[in-house]
Amino acid sequence: MEIKLFINGQFKDSSDKIIKTSFDPSNGAEVAKYHVPSVKDIEEAVQAANNAFYNPEWKNMSQDARADLLLKISEKIKERAKEIVDVEVRDSGSTLRKAKADVHNTSAFFKVMSKVARELKLSVKDEAASRAGFSINSREFAPIGVCAQIIPWNFPLVMAGWKIGPILATGCTTVLKSAEETPASAAILAEIIRDAGVPAGVVNIITGGADVGRALISHPLVKKVAFTGSTQVGKEILKNTAGGVLNATMELGGKSANIVLNDADLSIAVDGALYAFLYHSGQACDSGTRLLVQEGIYPEFMEKFLSRIKDVKVAPTTDPNAGYGPVVSEKQMKTILGFIEKTKAEDGKLLFGGNRKTDGEFAKGFFIEPTAFEITPKHTIFQEEIFGPVVGITKFKTEEEAVLLANNSKYGLAGAVWSKDADKAHKIASQLEAGTVWINEYHLLNPGMPFGGFKESGIGREMGSEGIMSYLEVRHVWESDCNEREKKVWLDAIF
Ligand code: NAD
Repeated sequence: MEIKLFINGQFKDSSDKIIKTSFDPSNGAEVAKYHVPSVKDIEEAVQAANNAFYNPEWKNMSQDARADLLLKISEKIKERAKEIVDVEVRDSGSTLRKAKADVHNTSAFFKVMSKVARELKLSVKDEAASRAGFSINSREFAPIGVCAQIIPWNFPLVMAGWKIGPILATGCTTVLKSAEETPASAAILAEIIRDAGVPAGVVNIITGGADVGRALISHPLVKKVAFTGSTQVGKEILKNTAGGVLNATMELGGKSANIVLNDADLSIAVDGALYAFLYHSGQACDSGTRLLVQEGIYPEFMEKFLSRIKDVKVAPTTDPNAGYGPVVSEKQMKTILGFIEKTKAEDGKLLFGGNRKTDGEFAKGFFIEPTAFEITPKHTIFQEEIFGPVVGITKFKTEEEAVLLANNSKYGLAGAVWSKDADKAHKIASQLEAGTVWINEYHLLNPGMPFGGFKESGIGREMGSEGIMSYLEVRHVWESDCNEREKKVWLDAIF
């Protein structure tokens, strides 16, 4: 597969002829050759997005027409599902099951965005603020303009969808940069967007590393940065956007607490805890990597947990029964193994796993065993995001202690509570400093509801009405409801 730059509705070569390769993390096989944009190409992409923003065909397009485009994209994703699943599995190390779910969810997300676009009211009179005979006050919503959108490698198609959906629903335009590890599915999405009839330049898609990202966000025509990635890079981007006073939404890292209370239904909670930290090899931002278990059920929970963890099948992604596959790259694998060694050195008690898998079919890939440690807040992995199949388990006595432990983190992306008592679970949920809290559930998201983080897990939200609003500027329009000269309150102000 050859992936060119998608600029102004056309697929183009890198003007500097920089071509790199992406690899299958299961076996090291080549997946794609992708073109990396030069500074000149980035300039062209941003100019294309800016021209498209002011192009009357896009600027004046009705919300119904935008909604129709979004629906077409949703349908075309479904039509090309098999092809997308195939590249996503090889490019990102997603299992077949995950890739199928990602394609389904992305298609569904564009469908939801279509409904949102159709129902979006861009001018709303505020009855409460208006005063008869004095003022008619309304809010008008206007698209922010050219956006620079930067996504990570863990959910390549889903992340591209979450970024591009609101662009099309609101009338913004974008240059989206996919991650170098996983350029493939966004390239197919580019074809789908073109084939759906989205005007040229509205969506531009390029792939590259930090340098490309830096050049993109510092372009003076960019009005908003939407970033998903690590907190460390998010902080750098925030510094770099300060000069342009750019609007920015940040979806960053996490170290989410998964709390199991004494009265939890263990027939669900044990599997839920495994799913929470092992889904996609632990490479999900909202992973439940701090497992907090109440002391009354600790022995029983742990016995079941350590018995059930053996049933999770680590396998190459083409195996339809793989529970999870490789981690995305050798670099990521080394980071994870480094955290495992550090935890051992800090006397964390290793309960399961802890090794790379290298025998037979695993030899050429980056596979790591499911790994569980018993830890306390003093261990590094209680605080630092690993982004791998590693959980730290901590025992607690009281619900108050569980809340303190859960909030003892610089992150605040997500969390969960497992209990048969809904009132008790809600009471705990309402005290968690986290953007999403599940009760007897994990990882599931609803496109109609916001997703994002407290504290260093981010700024702003994606999805829900909050996600849409983050692509719109608000304009207060004050119309006088008083056209009699002598009744104007300001008449004597300066005369
Ligand atoms: P990363 O921060 O290293 O890279 C993310 C993206 O930013 C990539 O496209 C990369 O090329 C680009 N980039 C890197 N340096 C840059 C710079 N200085 N300027 C501009 N762009 C730059 O993250 P990653 O390793 O790709 O992804 C894993 C991280 O993403 C984890 O921390 C995870 O928690 C986070 N994540 C968060 C969410 C969320 O919604 N909160 C979702 C998925 C992943």
